[in-house]
Amino acid sequence: MVGCSIAYHLTKLGWKDVVLLEQNQMAGGTTWHAAGLVGRLRTTNSMTRINKYSVELYSALEKETGHDIGWKQVGSLIVGRSRDRMIQLERTAAMSERFGVEVRLVSPQIALEKWPLLRIDDVRGAAWLPHDGKVIPKELALALAKGAQSRGAIVLENVRVQNIRHRDGYVTGVETDQGPIGAQYVVLAGGMWTRELGLRCGVTIPLYPVEHHYVVTEPLAGAFDELPVGRDPDLCIYFRGEGQAVMLGAFQNFSKAWMVEKIPAGFSYQLLDPDWEKFAEPLKNGKHRIPALETARFAKFVNGPESFTPDNNFIMGEAPGLRNLFVAAGFNSVGIASAGGAGKYLAEWMIEGEPTLDLWSVDIRRFSPWANNLAYLRERVTEVLGLHYQMAWPNREFETGRGMLKSPLHERLQAQNACFGVKNGWERPNWFAHGGLQPIAEYSFGRQNWFHCHAAEHRATREGVAIFDQTGFSKFIYKGRDVTSVLQRLCGNNVDVPVGHAIYTGMFNERGGTESDLTLIRTAPAEYLIITGSAQTIRDFDWITRNTKPEEHAELVDVTRAFCVLGVMGPNARDLLGRVTDVDLSHSAFPFFTSQIIGVGKATVRAVRITYVGELGWELHVPMDQAIELYDTLMSAGKDLGITNAGHYAINSLRLEKGYRAWGADLSPDDTPLEAGLGFAIDWSKPFLGRNALEQQKKGGVKRRLVILILNDPEPMLWGSEPIHRNGLPVGYTTSGSYGHTVGSAIAMGYVNHSEPIIDDFIKAAQYEINISGRKYPAKAFLRAPYDPQRARILL
Ligand SMILES: Cc1cc2nc3c(=O)[nH]c(=O)nc-3n(C[C@H](O)[C@H](O)[C@H](O)COP(=O)(O)OP(=O)(O)OC[C@H]3O[C@@H](n4cnc5c(N)ncnc54)[C@H](O)[C@@H]3O)c2cc1C
Repeated sequence: MVGCSIAYHLTKLGWKDVVLLEQNQMAGGTTWHAAGLVGRLRTTNSMTRINKYSVELYSALEKETGHDIGWKQVGSLIVGRSRDRMIQLERTAAMSERFGVEVRLVSPQIALEKWPLLRIDDVRGAAWLPHDGKVIPKELALALAKGAQSRGAIVLENVRVQNIRHRDGYVTGVETDQGPIGAQYVVLAGGMWTRELGLRCGVTIPLYPVEHHYVVTEPLAGAFDELPVGRDPDLCIYFRGEGQAVMLGAFQNFSKAWMVEKIPAGFSYQLLDPDWEKFAEPLKNGKHRIPALETARFAKFVNGPESFTPDNNFIMGEAPGLRNLFVAAGFNSVGIASAGGAGKYLAEWMIEGEPTLDLWSVDIRRFSPWANNLAYLRERVTEVLGLHYQMAWPNREFETGRGMLKSPLHERLQAQNACFGVKNGWERPNWFAHGGLQPIAEYSFGRQNWFHCHAAEHRATREGVAIFDQTGFSKFIYKGRDVTSVLQRLCGNNVDVPVGHAIYTGMFNERGGTESDLTLIRTAPAEYLIITGSAQTIRDFDWITRNTKPEEHAELVDVTRAFCVLGVMGPNARDLLGRVTDVDLSHSAFPFFTSQIIGVGKATVRAVRITYVGELGWELHVPMDQAIELYDTLMSAGKDLGITNAGHYAINSLRLEKGYRAWGADLSPDDTPLEAGLGFAIDWSKPFLGRNALEQQKKGGVKRRLVILILNDPEPMLWGSEPIHRNGLPVGYTTSGSYGHTVGSAIAMGYVNHSEPIIDDFIKAAQYEINISGRKYPAKAFLRAPYDPQRARILL
């Protein structure tokens, strides 16, 4: 399906010399047995755009190609039976408005009218999405291939790719069982076989097949083909009409990885054995929701393997380290619904050389090689399939595949009741339990059980001193004669600072969007230490190396796993550190945004006077083997200063109050620094990548501005993804949220969009509300940080 869509779109965009290779028969991999559900709404704007485009394409494809794909816009219905599920549906409906997808919340009675065989006595309500539909997956794939062929693509079946050819970091073609094919670009869209293809050319493509089940009844009274696609996520089932019968499928919380040593190359138009035992629960649930199933006979059991990734998002983009090799695989049960859009945006990415919208959530560069470990994948994917229907809790953490990357302090922090979360494999303390609480988060959309622990850590940082394990930061050493000139070209800010100085800067694409924001420390005339977000290790490494010219003398080395980072933050940070170092820590001797190698007790560390929480503090980079020494030294020296362990939830709320943006949430390749209010970190006196677009934007004015929002009501929580209303009209949504314990209310960031350039008064002279689960709460909007430690006051 996905390969066909890419060929279709490449030819549609004008590429003529396209070959599509299939090792067996077209669509015989996972595609042919898919249930054919096509939904438009996803959890992010970009993913929704992908699926919306798919629906647009599928509605018109038969007319274009003359091939019947069975497209029927039957709509879809999601029933909710718990209070939390209804809150989630309210949140979904509120966001969908912003994404341009119609979602109506309807009563159980209306749900019954749409799906007359439903049982509704335990249903509280439902969401109705009139534009969703269904399709016959095999025919859709064939129609896309036909469309590609009509524009000159060659489609070859029974040709197996055995190897990827490459030279000097560029792909040059493929070797097949029938000889080589030279190619300037290669796309691996081999479904569950793609991981194996990646291994052969050193590309990390972490995916693994999972068994996915559905059954189809024999003809059933009252069933008809145009029944909407139904979902009961609380019961982990979906259902739809299939001719005169009913299809019932499952997304169980824990599913079965397909235990194969190697996926057989000839597995085409085949299924795995029916597993009625595993399907017993969904069947019971199906009979509950559709009582007519009690007496139904079943004509078909589909047990189809399909590939899942560690985070339930598919994998797209150019392989880091191998230019012009693209990947589109790991479609986690949404490959039919997403294929149209995924094909279009991948084709655009190939042609333009960079994604044409923010595709970070599916970007291949989010995975480091550790994520390709088979034992890890087999464990993790069992949890992933069920995520489609589990409650989308704001801070839900994975339960499987944990403990992959640990800081040396892990056991120390665990012993002090850390509740860990995971970011790019790193176990990081989110919060520390106290007062008899277990370090286990109880999820909800409101305040969660850790609220008071978070408050204590937040306040300790503002009022005393806290210690943060930030080891997951990505860290690179960039060294060579030309590093300064390369960085000047890639960074918006001036990096030519004296040795020992730090710089905060963004790196931008040609559109002026933010590819990354990072901290650089000039450690020698021709050397920088680069510190960036935990999730961006491969992405930023790739961005810098791909933008370094071969003739430039500059070498980038990833040292993430060599150093532990401890943040020592708060007004007492100087007192504390002063007790365990001989170095003068006064403001004049150790100014803000500078760095020195210092001794702290018996540990030797690189101390950087910097903060992401908005307080006096140092980030201490220590070799992993001295991390415990450093931690113990600080903890025992700080006892009487009330030194407190603090976690990443505290970092989030503290940085929001101080107005510090987070890449991946408040900043993305679609957001420019001018829109994000980061113009102060641009040095306009020099050329840099993205400058032309930014200059244009500066001249014309920005039509979206990042604001910080604080609720008037101190009670509710904000998590991100809540719609923002300005003077009663929807203008954007929150990109991140938390509870600001210093400002005394929930706090968030988000973009306000407008059709005209936005001036400060447009933001200031307006009334704001945030839609939380269907109810609007008044909020104040700030263009500058609402908390200012220098003036030690809250600007409310
Ligand atoms: C039971 C079930 C129900 C599903 N229901 C839905 C649904 O309702 N909606 C939805 O959106 N998604 C659904 N899915 C998911 C969907 O089927 C997949 O996401 C989608 O088919 C993936 O398409 P693909 O092109 O990536 O993979 P595939 O269809 O597997 O295609 C990959 C192709 O690459 C070929 N190939 C591999 N290696 C090589 C090689 N070395 N040389 C040449 N060719 C090679 C394979 O033979 C294969 O044909 C369902 C999946 C299952 C199992």
